[in-house]
Amino acid sequence: MSLTRVALAGSTGSIGTQALDVIEAEADRFELSAIGATGRQPEVIIEQARRYRPSVVAISDPEAAQSIAAELPGVEVRGGADAMASLALEADVVVNGVVGFAGLSVTLATLEAGRRLALANKESLIAAGPVVQVARRTPGAELVPVDSEHGAIHQCLRATDNRNRVSRLLLTASGGPFRGRTADDLANVTIENALAHPTWSMGPKITIDSSTLMNKGLEVIEAHELFGTPAGDAGYGIGFEDIDVVVHPQSIVHSMVEFTDASTIAQLSTPDMRLPIGYALAWPDRISTPFGRIDWTNLGRLDFEPPDLEAFPCLALAYAAGRSGGTAPAWISAANEVAVDAFLNGQIAWREIASVIAATLDRHDGAPATDADAVIDADSQARRIAHEELNSFASVVR
Ligand code: MG
Repeated sequence: MSLTRVALAGSTGSIGTQALDVIEAEADRFELSAIGATGRQPEVIIEQARRYRPSVVAISDPEAAQSIAAELPGVEVRGGADAMASLALEADVVVNGVVGFAGLSVTLATLEAGRRLALANKESLIAAGPVVQVARRTPGAELVPVDSEHGAIHQCLRATDNRNRVSRLLLTASGGPFRGRTADDLANVTIENALAHPTWSMGPKITIDSSTLMNKGLEVIEAHELFGTPAGDAGYGIGFEDIDVVVHPQSIVHSMVEFTDASTIAQLSTPDMRLPIGYALAWPDRISTPFGRIDWTNLGRLDFEPPDLEAFPCLALAYAAGRSGGTAPAWISAANEVAVDAFLNGQIAWREIASVIAATLDRHDGAPATDADAVIDADSQARRIAHEELNSFASVVR
């Protein structure tokens, strides 16, 4: 088997470090060719470069790039805003583990270079859906999701050869740390409460998104982009009305696909992101290292329940933004990033995350997402408006 060259954008984050585990465990098939990070954790990326010896290191912050380069003689260190996207040309597969809208350039550069994109950065797909759909048509370009739910759906869809036989996608949600609480119970939850995810170990942004169910809402839009109607050859004729969310607190069933004969196929494992990372790297093959293996003698029960839309309004907001289309998904994703940052900085209460997002979306201008520039403009505008809305909530909290 020839070695697959892998580049990791966002190598110091939660996805990046777990991808390194997979590459190390499968050293006979994967070779780490390049890594990239913002430069905010210079000691981590220097250690990664020394240990895994990639030929290129990309650092978005140009000053950090200079000081990191001084520590890595013989390694090509690229610095600047475009450095991370340039990794696309250094690999057969790029893992995009960048956090938030900043991952867009990596998503587009990888697809436009005709490479495989192992996508953990759902925000780029959500914000720039129509633009990413065009880039996906580049010869050689492939998008394999790293999100556990979408990796599960990708696997379940292989149960049919006929794309018209898919009737429903069922995205599972752990429910996060606040499952079962009422809207009133959630008035005074703390940052520590929200960061205490019951089943998954993830970065802070996505952990807060899980606590509000915005993560699941964004994943509904992500599923629609990946498997839905507008994707041409990649599509399964799935509309928003065909995507349902099921709360499943054990996080063992990672999602399901229901076919026209009512057969429902599920993908199961214990919660371990290294499984979907390995799947996205190796597809259509599978890696030989087991991650997330289930011990059936100790598994116990699997529970399922509907989501509480009243206590977790972000889920309905995301469905609405997805149905609006155009730049509405870019707006909800940007407003959410602003609101989550504000919550993590102690500026607003947890419940105000949804309020800031709703108030921002109320001011959406209905612009279409025609090209990357339109999406970048929409992102900046939504952030500006979200900050305005934030100020009207921030004064009353804490
Ligand atoms: Mg997920």
